[in-house]
Amino acid sequence: MADQSVAVVTAERSTTPMLEVTGLGVTLPAGVVVDRVSFTVLAGRTTGLIGESGSGKTMTAMAVVGLLPDAAVASGQVRWKSEDLLTAPERRRRQVRGREIGVVFQDPSAALDPIQTVGRQVGEILRRAGRPRAEVRARVLELLARVGLPEPERQAGSYPHELSGGMRQRVMIAIALAGRPELVIADEPTTALDVTTQARILALLADLREREGLAMILVSHDLRVMAHVADDVVVMYAGRVCEQGPARAVLDRPHHPYTRALAGNVPAVTSRTAIAEPLPGAPASPFDPPSGCPFHPRCPMARARCATEVPALRETGAGPAPRRLSACHFAEEVTP
Ligand code: SF4
Repeated sequence: MADQSVAVVTAERSTTPMLEVTGLGVTLPAGVVVDRVSFTVLAGRTTGLIGESGSGKTMTAMAVVGLLPDAAVASGQVRWKSEDLLTAPERRRRQVRGREIGVVFQDPSAALDPIQTVGRQVGEILRRAGRPRAEVRARVLELLARVGLPEPERQAGSYPHELSGGMRQRVMIAIALAGRPELVIADEPTTALDVTTQARILALLADLREREGLAMILVSHDLRVMAHVADDVVVMYAGRVCEQGPARAVLDRPHHPYTRALAGNVPAVTSRTAIAEPLPGAPASPFDPPSGCPFHPRCPMARARCATEVPALRETGAGPAPRRLSACHFAEEVTP
């Protein structure tokens, strides 16, 4: 099996909030998909949103940058510096997206324009900002080199179909960095890639976070990714937060059986060769969650109370920000 190792980098513990999400809800015509989600992204740190497919993690990330489907309605607050992005005019949100907050999508093949050269797409935001042609060209080459594309001069003239999947994802990262953002949101950025390329892209993201002091929101279902890149994590199940806190503490000593089950399926989340297996049972639908604790039909620790009483998200540990929170009636018993 290919070596999946990436550098484990831990950012200096910052306590400066950069983005504050409070009581975020997202409703589609079929029902609620994100329910009262709150978390804070600290300056220069990576916050991981973890969960299985359908947990609401991607909807949460897309709500932050105003990229929800047309039929979706968002509620709550997304405070970016001093303004609420949820209520900001679309024009302002577009300005923030790209310049202040960069976005890396899951599938670069779908996100890149097949009929425009890579260089043109990386330079788009700079051209729109009215930067002179020579400056745009120089910055495009600098960005392509920065994300590890060999021969940037030649690659700038390539079309996306001429590049490998890993190279296309590097181009997406260059586009996200073009506006010199302070925060990058990466939605499952390695899912479409082979394991060796995944490791390289993760190493690149960790390096960018470190060298450029970027804050990052990383969406992934893969605990190996989180163990290597995230400083803080928010674990989601059926559209709700079930656990959150500093990544190492949460992944090493979970306070929620769902996190423990996810971590338990990866023999050692910091192992170089760990393989994540799917959890037994089907994830609960956020549209029609089970009564009581939404995880109770799959939970090995469930008791009678779990089927009737919704557990509150409560503080379960002291320490520096972010606080440790768990939505389990028996959080103190999860990790003996
Ligand atoms: Fe499991 Fe009950 Fe805790 Fe839910 S509240 S995670 S069912 S023990």
